[in-house]
Amino acid sequence: MDEQVRTGGCLCGAASIRLKGQPTRVGICHCHDCRRTSGSAFVCFAVWPRSSYEDTGNLHTFAGRSFCPTCGSRLVSLREDEAEVMIGSLDQAPSNLIPDYELWIGRREPWLLNLELAVQFEHDWEPRKN
Ligand SMILES: [Zn+2]
Ligand SMILES: [Zn+2]
Repeated sequence: MDEQVRTGGCLCGAASIRLKGQPTRVGICHCHDCRRTSGSAFVCFAVWPRSSYEDTGNLHTFAGRSFCPTCGSRLVSLREDEAEVMIGSLDQAPSNLIPDYELWIGRREPWLLNLELAVQFEHDWEPRKN
């Protein structure tokens, strides 16, 4: 089976990312921090195993969120075992990644519809680690 490879990067092109295979989950978050750091009403992200993620360029990190210091594009949150990628940083649009879950729904703008295909959470949800 051919493994899908997705590429992406920041607005100015100084940083790029590369992801192998399918994400383990896709989420939407309406929390205060996601609103602030994105400057938007919510963020949509996809999570890959850390070993499936590569980047080039000089990313800076604040509070676990990495971004291009030149253009400010927020790309990824790297954890020891996972890479949580902002799907807007991917080259392909639409990404065709479909959210499995939605966080902090109490902060969702009222004009956004409840995504029926996504499991809804009042606050955070951390998947169980094996
Ligand atoms: Zn940039
Ligand atoms: Zn959030």
